[in-house]
Amino acid sequence: MNKVVVIGSGFSGLSAACCLAQQGYQVTVLEKNHTPGGRARRFKEAGYTFDMGPSWYWMPDVFERFFKRFDLSVTDYYQLKRLDPSYRMFFNQHQNLDVPADYTQIRQLFESIETGSAVKLDKFMKQAELKYQMGMGNFVYKPGNSAMEFINLETIRSAYQLDLFQSFHQHLRRFFSNPKLLQLLTFPILFLGATAKNTPALYSLMNFADLKLGTWYPKNGMHEIVLALVKLAESLGVSFKYRQEVHTIDVKSSRASKVITQDKHWNADLVVASADYHFIESECLPIEYQSYTDSYWESRTMAPSSLIYYLGVRKRIDGLQHHNLFFDADLNQHTSEIYETPKWPSNPLFYVSATSKTDATVCPTGHENLFVLIPVAPGLEDNESVREHYFDVVMKRMERALGTEITAFIDYRRCYAHQDFIKDYHAFKGNAYGLANTTMQTAFLKPGIKSKKVSNLYYAGQLTVPGPGVPPSLISGQIVANQILKDARHETVV
Ligand SMILES: Cc1cc2nc3c(=O)[nH]c(=O)nc-3n(C[C@H](O)[C@H](O)[C@H](O)COP(=O)(O)OP(=O)(O)OC[C@H]3O[C@@H](n4cnc5c(N)ncnc54)[C@H](O)[C@@H]3O)c2cc1C
Repeated sequence: MNKVVVIGSGFSGLSAACCLAQQGYQVTVLEKNHTPGGRARRFKEAGYTFDMGPSWYWMPDVFERFFKRFDLSVTDYYQLKRLDPSYRMFFNQHQNLDVPADYTQIRQLFESIETGSAVKLDKFMKQAELKYQMGMGNFVYKPGNSAMEFINLETIRSAYQLDLFQSFHQHLRRFFSNPKLLQLLTFPILFLGATAKNTPALYSLMNFADLKLGTWYPKNGMHEIVLALVKLAESLGVSFKYRQEVHTIDVKSSRASKVITQDKHWNADLVVASADYHFIESECLPIEYQSYTDSYWESRTMAPSSLIYYLGVRKRIDGLQHHNLFFDADLNQHTSEIYETPKWPSNPLFYVSATSKTDATVCPTGHENLFVLIPVAPGLEDNESVREHYFDVVMKRMERALGTEITAFIDYRRCYAHQDFIKDYHAFKGNAYGLANTTMQTAFLKPGIKSKKVSNLYYAGQLTVPGPGVPPSLISGQIVANQILKDARHETVV
């Protein structure tokens, strides 16, 4: 009973593979693409090196805790640098704002924008820290198998402190009213894939992650984390098979017996599906073994998709930091065009990562490496004319805000959106970040880590607990490995 097949080599699959191999399981990872990392892959073209997906390294403690399971540390694999400023926000009329790494300077910044807000920030952050410690220390590692995991004296006592019943939107407005501060503090919530009105106030823990724990960058880019996990996994005996696209899970007597790719039938005692949950359920399993119906999936709130431009520019661009948020448009209108009336945005907010500001290895000397991302609703029709239109929009806005010509200096350009997410990852509706962390899709209300119909089939990744993001995906793999170990010992996970 020790042969495990992990489907997918994203963070969740890599994390599960490492944890299970450490416990003596014989683990094989089947990956459809030719390199590991899933949404966090890397590509090199024309002298530029691009991280394809994640660019924000937040919650360094989560990565440290993961490596500690193996008596290792992050520094055994990659070097981290704390960014200062953490990021730049662009508002209308050149009212830019740099968010410093140092908390004392952040207080000063708040006070300069809204009198009395430094003290309010202290109070807000004190609660955010408590939520972070409780949320990330305990809650987030729960398997979400039932509501009972959360109904105990500790949770009931802390429900009030954790603000489980109030929205983030309301919570924030109890402290601040200045529009810039509201936007600065709302931005981390956008990572969770839901509006502030739909997100529990518990998630002000993200503000603690942002303003206190800081924004970091692994030397040579985010993909270094993937390479670290692959190296660790291989040292534990995990075998990686690339270009192995799983199309069927063969089930006999309610047990998965084989995982089938175009090349081979892979025998398995246990299967961990870390590829997009919806695809595995609805495409790889016979209908009688699917835990969720089509209408269940249709009724889920998916996190956004993204329209991305990877750009190589043959000149340096003053005025950009490593991370740049273009909030020079209406945040409410853009979020409503993602969640409430899904459509291509009229006037989008966007994000620009210029890794070349920190890392000389990502482009030729004197050039700039830009990653431009517009969050957009999943399920939209994505075509060349739409991609061209938004390219013009973001380039014009960036050139205006920075007062410099950029388009004429672009010597490499690649665009990536819904169709690419579907082709590369079988992403449901072309989602980028999985399932949104809305109140009704939190913890035990998410698709479960255990199949309801196939006894040895487990799920990991950003469509199950704890949710989207690199740290949660890393945690997801650990949760599923813990569950498998407990199931093998016939214990209940609490
Ligand atoms: C553009 C973008 C920007 C992001 N920015 C950030 C950020 O700054 N910070 C942050 O923390 N998070 C960020 N995220 C989110 C984070 O990257 C993801 O939550 C995380 O990487 C998901 O990991 P995963 O293991 O769940 O899924 P994936 O990374 O998608 O891994 C699933 C794997 O399964 C494989 N697969 C799919 N189907 C099959 C099949 N049939 N057979 C075999 N293999 C299959 C896929 O190829 C893939 O490798 C970003 C995501 C995107 C897309």
